[in-house]
Amino acid sequence: MQLLMMGPPGAGKGTQAAKLVKKFNIPQISTGDMFRAAVKEGTELGKQAKACMDAGKLVPDEVTIGIVRERLAKDDCKNGFILDGFPRTVAQAEALTKILDELGKKLTRVLNVHVPAEDLIERAVGRRICKNCGATYHVKFNATKVDGVCDECGGDLYQRADDNVETMTNRLNVYVESTRPLIEYYKAAGVYTEIDGRQPIDKVTEDLINVLTSVQE
Ligand code: ADP
Ligand code: AMP
Repeated sequence: MQLLMMGPPGAGKGTQAAKLVKKFNIPQISTGDMFRAAVKEGTELGKQAKACMDAGKLVPDEVTIGIVRERLAKDDCKNGFILDGFPRTVAQAEALTKILDELGKKLTRVLNVHVPAEDLIERAVGRRICKNCGATYHVKFNATKVDGVCDECGGDLYQRADDNVETMTNRLNVYVESTRPLIEYYKAAGVYTEIDGRQPIDKVTEDLINVLTSVQE
């Protein structure tokens, strides 16, 4: 199953992708996570990505497309994958179609997690991530049992540098301008489904699984 999780920043793509990884045993490919790993390692890619991420801008298409092309060619993607946060521009979507053609694959479904703009800043600003295993929490909507400590692995939580009101405002503008047009691209391709992302996390997961079960039948 080749899945694509779409939606504005803070909609819950990563949270849901992690649930689908467990359910379907296919890898999550998050370009945001890949860039954050490169920043942490201090590579050339990391330096370039950091400047864009800190400003709430997109990393240039050719760089982003290159890392996804390499990642999708890896063995663990043979039985499927969940793309999360890619593509974010029409040029990236066109490149993805070409990469998948070359691999003899097609997108099974594009799942757009819809959340109205007014909810997104609160979601991002309250987001906390485990330093150790990457699990995502929210101080209000999905709090850990012990403050600042991951329920899954006991690791410490941190807040992303770009999860502040100013950067998030830029990220939302970039979404409207560059990423939202992809809804029409994937509607035209006949693979688009919208899910109501305002529901509780487990209900969103249930809706996603229902859609995917009917697609597989
Ligand atoms: P994205 O990957 O789309 O940027 P995340 O999955 O990281 O979004 O979620 C953003 C924040 O919102 C996180 O703190 C997460 O715990 C929280 N969140 C995710 N889904 C929901 C939901 N359905 N209701 C309330 N909060 C949610
Ligand atoms: P995310 O973790 O998906 O919220 O992404 C964090 C940041 O990484 C974004 O604000 C961008 O700066 C960068 N980024 C992630 N994915 C992409 C992409 N597909 N294209 C360009 N930049 C990206």
